This record gives sequence, structure tokens and C-alpha cells, in this order.
Amino acid sequence: MRYISTRGASPALPFDAVMLSGLAPDGGLYMPETWPQIGADEMAALATRTYPEAALQVLKRFAGEAIPLADLYAAIQAAYATFPGGRVAPLRDLGDGVHLLELFHGPTFAFKDVALQLLGRLMDWGLKRSGRRALIVGATSGDTGSAAIAGLRGLAAVDVVILHPKGKTSDIQRRQMTTVLDENVRNVAVEGNFDDCQAIVKALFSDAALAERLNLAAVNSINWARIAAQIVYYVTAAAALGAPGREIDFAVPTGNFGDIFAGYAAQKMGAVSGRLIVATNENDILKRCLDTGVYEPRGVVETTSPSMDIQVSSNFERLLFEAADRDGAAVAGLMDDLKTRGAFTLGGNLRAAIAERFDAERVTSAEAAGEIAALSGRGGPVLDPHSAIGLIAARRRKRPGVPMVALATAHAAKFGDAVRAATGQAPELPSALAALANLPERFDILPAETGAIRAYIEAFAARKS
Ligand SMILES: *Cc1c(COP(=O)(O)O)cnc(C)c1O
Repeated sequence: MRYISTRGASPALPFDAVMLSGLAPDGGLYMPETWPQIGADEMAALATRTYPEAALQVLKRFAGEAIPLADLYAAIQAAYATFPGGRVAPLRDLGDGVHLLELFHGPTFAFKDVALQLLGRLMDWGLKRSGRRALIVGATSGDTGSAAIAGLRGLAAVDVVILHPKGKTSDIQRRQMTTVLDENVRNVAVEGNFDDCQAIVKALFSDAALAERLNLAAVNSINWARIAAQIVYYVTAAAALGAPGREIDFAVPTGNFGDIFAGYAAQKMGAVSGRLIVATNENDILKRCLDTGVYEPRGVVETTSPSMDIQVSSNFERLLFEAADRDGAAVAGLMDDLKTRGAFTLGGNLRAAIAERFDAERVTSAEAAGEIAALSGRGGPVLDPHSAIGLIAARRRKRPGVPMVALATAHAAKFGDAVRAATGQAPELPSALAALANLPERFDILPAETGAIRAYIEAFAARKS
């Protein structure tokens, strides 16, 4: 399997090369050249397999020519051994044909662990084989940083520096990052806000000489290996509920469109068919785009579901590529409109192609709080605000006779303040999170200046030589 750019003007690359690079040279995102297929017989067999076994069956179709199967399976097994009891993506029946797909049992209690635990190990494998090291640099407002650090800590060929805005993450989020004392991990508290952190990271990557010398790499959600890892739980959930012999709908709390695009990929592989419900909070660029055909970023509003507080949804470009029948020049034209005019408008064909599979729902923070209180009041699970948004969208779009799966993307304890405000009671803290309060922290405080951060990462990268 080779991977091509959504903008059509970059050479095709194998899986391992795509995993270790970021954007394609033409500014596009990598996509598999064709969609590998999973047959009905195999889906039936997958229903009885363990999660790592199912992951191997799915991922070998994307990575099998680039990574020997034994190495791929070893990375998968190690990644998912970090989920207590092997509970990677359990389904919980909420009644009335609605199911919760719990993706928050990993080391940092958010669904990003499912992809990042595997990505770190696969990157380490790829780097060791080519005798190189990479330095992962990223900015975080809280969630992604902790999942990336948890997935990369202790790896031999990878160093990681994560910038967070000083004093602007929650206490738990900071401690999830700063209590990791592995030698290959550094945290920087930047005296600025998240946008400052992100601008600094962007400036570092755009310094081609620096990026080349330090082999800078990114683990953000445009990395195809992350999407591929996320396809697996759509396949296992669909297999458990009887796909492809019947339709299954999925509702997905959406920010950067990576997670729900994995659901689209599962459909294109023949594993499942049905509706895909994009659930947004007040930052509803995707809902507006699906309703009107106009994609226009506005200012970001702060909500109780911060991991969905986005202005631009990067992975949406992958869907545009598909909707445009893989016409990279057409996608490049839309992206150019976005850059020069601040918006793009979908033609009738693109809108129709997207509407064939996708619906969108906008859910407010107040509605999410109401659902959290109502569900726990009925003796149901205590949800976090992101998961509540997915569940509300799921209920609004539930079709008679078609199972609906709502993705639960974070543990309630990770967003304890919002949950307490909704229910009057703080969610129970898992022991791993409670223990953080007593662990020593390590982080460095630096001004929001690219020069200072640049000197810092250079010194860190040079420490062994
Ligand atoms: C990242 C995240 C999302 C959004 O996922 P995308 O792939 O960016 O659409 C939703 N919920 C939580 C808890 C997240 O951390």
C-alpha cells in the first residue's frame, strides 16, 4: 500500500515514510492509494477476536508491506497492554438500540491513547531500523500532550518536547505531563497562551535547516498512522453488532475530524455501512458547512468540551478529497480559497457526496450538562462533556431498527469541574489520576519566544553527543 497526497502533487510513499513525516510536500494530507477491503466472513470472525488480534487484521492492510507482521503485532500487543484488563474499546448497551463505545480506558483517560500508544511504538521501530532519532515537538492545551507523552515515554529513538501554556491547563492535565520523568521527555510551561505555543511550534517546523538537523517530527492528528489505528474500533464495534449484514450508525464528538474520518474509512473498507453523525459543540464550523456548503472559520468560543474547541478542522480535507473523486487539484483550489479569502464553498457534487453518509448536530455546553445530569440521575454512567455531546447527537439521529453507537472519548474525571457543575458531585477519580497529586513534577518555564524555545530544544537534542 502506498500513500498519496490530497493535493495531488507529491510522490507516493510507503506507510513507514508517511508515519514519520507530517504534511506532504505539497501541503496535503496522505491517503491510502486504494481502500483495502474486509469481507463479511472476516467480519464475522473478528467478532470473536481480542482487540490486538483485530487490530493486526485491520492494520496489516495498511502497513503490512512496510512493517513485518511480527513486528507490527508486537507493537500492537505492547500498545494495548497499557489498557487495564485489555479493555480498549468496550461497548456499553444504554438501551433503546443506543450503545456507548468507551474509548477512555487508556493511560491518560482519553481516546487519543488508542492511537498514540501504538504510534509511538511504530515510530520507534521505524527510526531504529533506519538508524535515526527523531525529536517530537508539540503544543498542547491539555489532552494531546499527555497522550503523546504517555505514548512516547521511554522510547529509545524518540525524544519529545511538549509546550503547554503556563497556568492555563487544568491541574490534572499538567500533572499528567509533568510527572513523567523519563529521560527522553521534557515539558515546557510557556509564559503565554495556547496560540503562542502553537505559533512557536509552527515557526520551529518551518525552519527547514533546523527541522532537518534535529529530525523534527509531529504526532498530530493528521498523521495517517493515527487514523489507521482508530479504524480498528469502528471495525470491532461494527463486528460485535452484526455488520456488515446490517447497518450501524456512529455519532462522534468531533474536532479535527480525525476520529470520524476513521469511521468513514471503515465504511470504505466494506466493514460497515450507515450514517456518520458529526457532533460539534458551539464551535460548529462543520455543522454550518454541511448545512450550507460554506466552510468559514470564525473565532473560537470556549466551552466545557475544550478538545473540540477548534477553528479549522484539518482532517476534513481528507473527506473533500474523497468527495471530489480524489481530484487533488480541486482540493488544492478549495484550500487556496480558504487561505486567500478566508472561506471556501462546496460545489453541488461535493455536498451531495458528503450528504450520502454524513449528518451533523450542534450541541451546546448547557445541553451537554443536562444530559450528564439526566443520565447519571437515571443510574447510568457519568459522562464527560465531549461524550455527552456525542450521545445527544446520537439520540437526535437514532433511526428505528438501526443500532446507534455513540463514541465516548474521555473519562469524566478528566473534566471533573464541568461534571461537578452538571451533577453537583465530583466524578470518582481513578487511582492513577489520584496518585498524580503526590508525584514530583518536572518542567521548565520559558518566555513565549521562538528563540528561547529553539535554544532549549537544541540543547536537549545535543545532550548525549
Ligand atoms: C481530540 C478529542 C476529540 C476530537 O477528536 P478529533 O479526531 O479531533 O475530531 C473529541 N473528544 C476528546 C475528549 C478529544 O480529546
